[in-house]
Amino acid sequence: MSLELSPLAFPGIEMKRPVIISGPCSAETEEQVMDTATQLSKKGIKIFRAGIWKPRTKPGGFEGIGVQGLPWLQRVKSELGMLTATEVATPKHVEAALGAGVDILWIGARTVANPFAMQELADSLRGADVPVLVKNPVNPDLELWIGGLERINGAGIKRLGVIHRGFSSYDKRLYRNLPMWHIPIELHRRYPNLPIFGDPSHIGGARELVAPLCQQAMDLGFDGLIIESHCNPDCAWSDAKQQVTPDVLDFILDKLTIRDTLQTTESLETLRRQIDEIDNALIEQLAKRMRISREIGQYKREHGMTIVQANRYSEILAKRGAQGVLCGMSGEFVQTVFEAIHEESVRQQVEVMNKN
Ligand code: PEP
Ligand code: MN
Repeated sequence: MSLELSPLAFPGIEMKRPVIISGPCSAETEEQVMDTATQLSKKGIKIFRAGIWKPRTKPGGFEGIGVQGLPWLQRVKSELGMLTATEVATPKHVEAALGAGVDILWIGARTVANPFAMQELADSLRGADVPVLVKNPVNPDLELWIGGLERINGAGIKRLGVIHRGFSSYDKRLYRNLPMWHIPIELHRRYPNLPIFGDPSHIGGARELVAPLCQQAMDLGFDGLIIESHCNPDCAWSDAKQQVTPDVLDFILDKLTIRDTLQTTESLETLRRQIDEIDNALIEQLAKRMRISREIGQYKREHGMTIVQANRYSEILAKRGAQGVLCGMSGEFVQTVFEAIHEESVRQQVEVMNKN
């Protein structure tokens, strides 16, 4: 289904890449909000984020300051001239946030994973003229993400954007949430006019990962970044490990390399034609390999042999992985390619074996 979008214009903000939204994970006290916002404003940040309601994994933690924090956001707006953004998860949040004049709403990852909650939010947004940013759901399900966008869009919200904040996994090694970049890339392929914000804070879950993740989002052509920043990160009431001071944020943004998204120069076209030719050759070679594989299948069938011969398979993986490393690729990548080729090979041989 197509989305009916109008450009995500924020009043008074130049929508030049990267559009930056920054502020603390949560609004904690009036002083913390004003101190952080003042520092950010001095660094040229024009859109201030702060969670007023916080969906927490376990009960007993800080679940957000609630409506009491909304007048603080109003001060940020009137005294510093910044736009304000907060997360809404229920129709009551929507009503309170819009009533307080919050400029931009975002919908959190846990909420987007729940179609009933998304429909209720959509219904409560009907008639409101407010930009809405939809985070990816916690699980890596692109259709669910798009479904959420369709619900909000169906309620007449046309100034839509998305936030890529990564996907939950059981195994948290480097990242708090796995980026799985191919998912936002595929979303962009399907909806080229839908602006994408990167959320390096929630992907990385660690201060030192913010800069490289910002750069990666920019290198992929993302439109903006939403970055958690706090006047005293170590003492933050939520997500302390991933927040940076406004000074550090400024340093990170200053070091970013912003490359053009539309570079269709002659030399790029020439290089792309070469890539196309190589892809053609790859397909032809793969098809040839599969034909031979089918012949082997025929031989195995005639000699009553099983298809998978573990030794031979391990040998191929190890040999090609090592060869790949010598050629400047990651061994893991080459092994993944050969695993996929092997899987298709087995499928073809099964077909040959069972043909009448
Ligand atoms: C947040 O932005 O602070 C937040 C709760 O994010 P997410 O919904 O991505 O977990
Ligand atoms: Mn947070």
